[in-house]
Order: sequence, then structure tokens, then C-alpha cells
Amino acid sequence: MAQSSGANRKVLVLPGDGIGPEIMREVLRIVHFFDRRRIARFEISEDLVGGAAYDAHGTPLTEATLHKALTSDAVLFGSVGGPKWEKLPFELWPERGLLRLRKEMDLFANLRPAAVFEALADASSLKRDLVAGLDLMIVRELTGGIYFGEPRGIEILSDGTRRGINTEVYDEAEIERVVRVACELARKRRRRVCEIDKANVMESGGLWRETAQRIRDADYPDVELSFMYADNCAMQLVRAPKQFDVIVTSNLFGDILSDCAAMLTGSLGMLPSASLGPADASGRRKALYEPVHGSAPDIAGKDLANPLACILSFAMMLRYSFDMAEEADLVENAVRHALAAGVRTNDIAGSGITGASTGEMGNAVLRELEKVV
Ligand code: NAD
Repeated sequence: MAQSSGANRKVLVLPGDGIGPEIMREVLRIVHFFDRRRIARFEISEDLVGGAAYDAHGTPLTEATLHKALTSDAVLFGSVGGPKWEKLPFELWPERGLLRLRKEMDLFANLRPAAVFEALADASSLKRDLVAGLDLMIVRELTGGIYFGEPRGIEILSDGTRRGINTEVYDEAEIERVVRVACELARKRRRRVCEIDKANVMESGGLWRETAQRIRDADYPDVELSFMYADNCAMQLVRAPKQFDVIVTSNLFGDILSDCAAMLTGSLGMLPSASLGPADASGRRKALYEPVHGSAPDIAGKDLANPLACILSFAMMLRYSFDMAEEADLVENAVRHALAAGVRTNDIAGSGITGASTGEMGNAVLRELEKVV
């Protein structure tokens, strides 16, 4: 296991709004547990983001918080937003805080694992045998493509009718860096990458294919690379999802396919994510880890939220920012065993069953950790 020095593990914790502070509390209990048991130490600083930052400072992300994020080794993010701030002007929305962080940190690779815990295999909308043991990773390009491409907009035609325009545009370098992330990840998994595009109808898709092949041949000959069209991939994800290891794709296709894959696993309260930036001279990447779900205002403050997506995001941070695979396994296994022991928050309990509180779920994970360290 890693040495218990926190000097090179600076983590900025941004709990945010709604259930954000509740779920982050459970993560911090694990951080303190690791510290007490001398398993790992982190230099943690906590700050405001989103609506909470607006209430305190009049902006969803202060320059000081942004600076802290840019100088930390990793950012652990809860969730932002809620009805209290919905009437604010667009640029002051809590979500703008998160978008600015993503932009300033140049987080170009979004990692969305879809893993099914055995105890929850029946919560999927697919049959148990299709999803039991599922463990795939979608790597979505996050800063380019059609969501940002120019030209864009709505123009008025000579006959007075309107035309909407968005442009799918990718430089080779943008494709290359995200394909590299996917190949590196595959090396820590089952060494298979499937690149998804629409090369049959889009030139940019052809460039994705050629670039992926070139990078793989030059630097990752040990990784098996295959290709699939995005429409087929959508079908395959619900027909036979276990065929995939790592999927790499553009911003648009990744947006759709990662939500599709997410639903294979059952609940929003179980889904972690990571967003990675470029590597610095020492090989370390800027990174932000966050649950996929939002601030869940309907259950905020009631101690009902499932903290597992946030806890699993912390495990991703251990694995990808700090190369602490063993410690990440400890956390993921503790979650697995807590679920196997039957502990469930409402979102995964099934209808009519009163689930555990946020704190009780945190207790269950800590109990499992205590059994093994
Ligand atoms: P949501 O993810 O907050 O909630 C959707 C549903 O899932 C709700 O019924 C909620 O109670 C439930 N849910 C979500 N997370 C849960 C958890 N951990 N445990 C148990 N149940 C959980 O999405 P929404 O309702 O569309 O959005 C609410 C607010 O969150 C909005 O202001 C939205 O803009 C914001 N949002 C923020 C992020 C983010 O911070 N990254 C992402 C999505 C939405």
C-alpha cells in the first residue's frame, strides 16, 4: 500500500449544494479513517461552489477557489444547483461554477464506469444474466466536437425560414489525447478499446478511426483496438453489454452512450465519474471526481441520499490521480460487501421498503473497511 505521507496529495473538496454536503461527509469519514489507520494521508482543503458560493460571495466560483483547484492534485466535487438559485441570471447559475472548473482545468476526458454490483444485478432494467459482472468504462471526449464547434447558431434564410447549425469538428491532437487516455486505462483493465463513431457518414468519424489506429499501432500494440458505429453500439449496450471493456468516443456520442450504459447499473445514486486534463511534466493530470447525479433537492437535508456514487468517485480518485489501486480496491470492496450485507438507501431498496439513511450507509462501508484493515 502507499506510504502514509500526504505531502503530495493535495485534494480540494467542494461539497456544493443540496445533498452534496451530506454525501461528502461520508467520504470524509473514510478519508479520516485512512488517516487514523495510517493507510493514506491527504492534504484536504474544503471550499464553497455553486449556490453555496453564490450565497457567500455572489459568484458560483470565486477566483480563489479556482486557483485552489488549479493547484491541487485532485478535486472532489459533490453536486450543485437547486430551486433557490433558478431565477438568477444564467452566468450566476450554480452549474456555471462546475462548467468553469471543467474549462479552466481543461478536463478533456470524461470517464464513466458502468459496473454492476452483484447484490444490485436485479435493479437493472435488463435481465440479471446480461448485466451480472458487467464492468465497462466509457471515455468521452469532453471539450470538443459539436457542442463547441463553429459555425453554430440559427440563421434566417432568404425565404424567411430559419436554419439551425452546429458543427462536429475535431483536430487530430484532440482525438489523439483522449485515445491515449483510453489505451492507458485499458492497460489497467482487460486491454481492449472499442472506438465508436459514424465513420460511414461523417468524415470526422473517419479521422477518429485513423487516429485511434495510428496511436494504438505506435504506442499501445498490447491493446486490442476495435471499431463500432455509434448506432450499433447503442444496440449492443442493451443486447450484450459485457462484450465491452473500454469505449472511447466523441463528446456527443459519449453523452448519449454513457447515460445508456449508466442505466444498465440501476440507480443514479451508484454512479461515479472522473474528468481528466492533460498530464504535466511529472505525468500527473488535473482531475475532478464527482458523482453523476445532481443535487437532488427533493431529498436534500433529509439524510436519505445514497453516498455510494460519491464514495466510488473517491475510489476513482485514489486509482487515477494517486495510483493507489490497492486502496481503491479496498473502498470498492467495502461498498460491494455493504451491499451484499443488505444495506440499501431508498433509491436502491425497491418499492415499499424503507432504506437506510445516508449516515447508516456510510457506517456500513466503514464497518466493512474495519474488517479488512
Ligand atoms: P438529480 O440527479 O439531482 O435527481 C434526479 C432524481 O434522482 C431525484 O429524484 C433525486 O432524489 C434522485 N437522486 C439523485 N441522486 C441521488 C442519490 N445520491 N441518492 C438517492 N437519490 C438520488 O437531477 P435533477 O433533479 O434533474 O436536478 C436537480 C438539480 O441538480 C438541478 O439544479 C440540476 O441542475 C442539478 N444537477 C447538478 C449536477 C452536478 O452538480 N454535476 C448534475 C445534474 C443535475
